[in-house]
Amino acid sequence: MTALRPHQKAKALKPTSRRPAKELCSECGLCDTNYIHYVKDACAFLHQQIAQLEAEAHGRSRNLDAPDELYFGVHQQMLAARKQQPIPGAQWTGIVSTIACEMLTQGWVEGVVCVQNTPEDRFQPQPILARTRAEILAAKVNKPTLSPNLNVLEEIERSGIKRLLVIGVGCQIQALRAVEAELGLEKLYVLGTPCVDNVTRAGLQKFLETTSKSPETVVHYEFMQDFQVHFKHEDGSLEKVPFFGLNTKELKDIFAPSCLSCFDYVNSLADLVVGYMGAPFGWQWIVVRNPRGQEMLDLVEPQLDTQPVTSQGDRHAAVQQSIPAYDKSVTLPMWAAKLMGVVIEKIGPKGLEYARFSIDSHFTRNYLYVQRHHPDTLEEHVPEFAKRIVKQYKLPQ
Ligand code: FAD
Ligand code: SF4
Ligand code: SF4
Repeated sequence: MTALRPHQKAKALKPTSRRPAKELCSECGLCDTNYIHYVKDACAFLHQQIAQLEAEAHGRSRNLDAPDELYFGVHQQMLAARKQQPIPGAQWTGIVSTIACEMLTQGWVEGVVCVQNTPEDRFQPQPILARTRAEILAAKVNKPTLSPNLNVLEEIERSGIKRLLVIGVGCQIQALRAVEAELGLEKLYVLGTPCVDNVTRAGLQKFLETTSKSPETVVHYEFMQDFQVHFKHEDGSLEKVPFFGLNTKELKDIFAPSCLSCFDYVNSLADLVVGYMGAPFGWQWIVVRNPRGQEMLDLVEPQLDTQPVTSQGDRHAAVQQSIPAYDKSVTLPMWAAKLMGVVIEKIGPKGLEYARFSIDSHFTRNYLYVQRHHPDTLEEHVPEFAKRIVKQYKLPQ
């Protein structure tokens, strides 16, 4: 008989509605399972341990003196890519779904953790352990809300699966890495996306209603590199709203407290990260963190166009100006916002410099949030790389 692991012995103790991180909980799903047993060590909001987990996942933690690693984490290569034949309805060109489908159909893994939506609501997340290509494809496109992806951990254990792919955002992957050794797997692959400014389902509704002309028909949106939010509607039409015209006063409170205190924008612990913000408009940004991530990318390489990443402009002045503007919740009239968007797009940061712009803007905002709301945990909670990034700017008191 195999020995029981600690969370299996603790089954009877499982509290059903406890979230030890309290208001900072990002609803990653761990606490919906017996793995709550490990929460004190595993939760990204109770125990910040990115550097240690990087060392376990990638063989070393990031080199803080290497400028690209400081920002983008441990990596062996970055590139821009897009599918030659995009998947219709995917968030971008569908590289994430394609990698997952290939890994499953070619027998690399027996199941894939991903997130579909509920039948009633296209934006309400429903995590699943996908066992078929159709189930993976039904999980395409972002559910831009907090999603309890790890609530399938017990199902994985029951299924007897030994080779698994998990798709997820930074806070989910931090908790996953922390319990990886307890999952009883032979091989775990982790495919991550960057993530920032996430919201509850109610927060999303407020954002859509405050920002879009037709909130009920939005099927997909993204904060784009042209400094505009692009909403795609059911009839295929595109609505663009400049960042600088967003009603920041109304929207300031919609972001989840977890996401206002999150510093793992670039998903430091995934083997492979697929986003968009370090790539030219229309392309996806790929960060290969370790040899396992490279194998995953190689699997779909024949289906991709690729090009090297580039970097252009200087973000510093724009970030510094955005700090008090956010703090005071300034909203520009729409004509001025559009004009500012056009000017910034022409002369503003591009490629990796745009990604740094976005990281700097969010880290400075989040640092101020933690400093004001959780001053006792500031020192421990903010990772060293984020402290160095924030130090470049003058923050309001
Ligand atoms: P698809 O093939 O459409 O697959 C999307 C995958 O995402 C699916 O497998 C699904 O399981 C998973 N997924 C969907 N919603 C969630 C969720 N809530 N939690 C966990 N997994 C989910 N990239 C950037 O470069 N900069 C950003 O600021 C940024 N913010 C993001 C915010 C959120 C909330 C999310 C979910 C993603 C964000 N991304 C960001 C990633 C980017 O939007 C795309 O998801 C990524 O480039 C993959 O596109 P794709 O077409 O390959 O994905
Ligand atoms: Fe539990 Fe996850 Fe919430 Fe932390 S973030 S309290 S691990 S559900
Ligand atoms: Fe999790 Fe951070 Fe994304 Fe919020 S912003 S859902 S805390 S990874």
